[in-house]
Amino acid sequence: MPLNACELEIDLFCRGMRVPDEVPLDGARGISRTRAGLGSGLEVVIPGGSWVKERIWVNVPVEESFAHESPYVLEGSPLDGYRVRDDRNSVRYPIEIPPEPAWYAKSTTRGIPMNRIGVLQGTYLGVYINMVCTFWNYSPSLNCRFCTTGNNVGEHEVVDKAVADVVEVARAARDESGVTFVHLNAGFQGSRGVQFAEPYIAALKEQVGVLVGAQLAPQKDFSHYDRLIALGVDHLSFCLEFVDPEWFAKICPGKERVLGQQIFFDSIEHCAKRMPKGAVSGEIIAGVEPIEATLKGIDWIADHGAFPTVCIFRPTIGSAMENWPSPAFDQMRPVMEHVYQACRRNWIPIGAAPNIEVSIVVNPDDTAMLVPRTPGFYVYEAYRRTARALAQPLFSRRMRPRPRRDSGANGENPPAQGGRTAGGSATNV
Ligand code: SF4
Repeated sequence: MPLNACELEIDLFCRGMRVPDEVPLDGARGISRTRAGLGSGLEVVIPGGSWVKERIWVNVPVEESFAHESPYVLEGSPLDGYRVRDDRNSVRYPIEIPPEPAWYAKSTTRGIPMNRIGVLQGTYLGVYINMVCTFWNYSPSLNCRFCTTGNNVGEHEVVDKAVADVVEVARAARDESGVTFVHLNAGFQGSRGVQFAEPYIAALKEQVGVLVGAQLAPQKDFSHYDRLIALGVDHLSFCLEFVDPEWFAKICPGKERVLGQQIFFDSIEHCAKRMPKGAVSGEIIAGVEPIEATLKGIDWIADHGAFPTVCIFRPTIGSAMENWPSPAFDQMRPVMEHVYQACRRNWIPIGAAPNIEVSIVVNPDDTAMLVPRTPGFYVYEAYRRTARALAQPLFSRRMRPRPRRDSGANGENPPAQGGRTAGGSATNV
């Protein structure tokens, strides 16, 4: 029995895919080692084949050792199209391999290669704005054990990203790739604080006109989040990673020792109360801690008006967990089904924002393909479509460049410490 598009997405995350040498990948997006390493695969698009979801973006693991044992094999070419063949039953799934955008080969006016500033992960632009996550600077290192950021920044990315360069790359991504969303990620920013993201957010809102998300380590003084919201940030996400306290401490020693797990819950709660439903997300990793803890985390996040983004654990090359097994499909499918049910129960308008498809996680709205077609399903799907239609004018407004305010964003590097006066409206999507 062939899998549906979301099931195939899950299984590809779990098993990876083999890419034979003779299959040409001319023009495909290169494999990018950035951030925590989750973008280490081949970007592909699976046609949804359903009114529920038209296209599903997946960053398929191809380099890790488990991918070399995968029953999935890529076949085809740019000329006659690509397919993923499942060697267990010879089922072939048509897929697309999105081309690398022309701006990847360009440089900013300051001479920095644009793809060392930001990369596409699905349809959005991801920019790692921190120099390097501060957990990597401790001795012994306190980095999260699944992460490879400390190996990637500097090697594959520019260490210190000027606001002017980020603006220029965001403009290119918007104009040439139709990007609507820029996601700023920082790992643990140490003494720089949440406020070091302010000049980036202000400049992107004022000079580019895109939706902007920020993923920063939480900070005790929550007024900093209010300042980001006032600057116009559209989305805030918090990497809780693991729900079971013991697993949290074991896999994320820096988060445990320096921040503590509770602050992640408190930050999500604080921001979700101040932003529209679905504008905040909590990220967790499935496939390491007991599944019951993951399900509990999904429920907690959705019950607080945020949406759960669930990464399927990937034992990335170079991480301390490189030799851990990747999760099993039979365990991950119920987790993703649970994401949908939790969002439905809490009327989270998943999938409402325009053109935001994240390739490194199973998008919450992909999971609509996993659940039984009950009357409740159709009611929620009707609600989601209505919410999406009603939100379009609002998103269009928020994607217009905002008049320049006294944000302090002047195209120069952000300050190493200390904030700047945040101006602007506190309205949000
Ligand atoms: S907080 Fe953890 S996952 Fe994030 S960049 Fe730092 S070490 Fe990596």
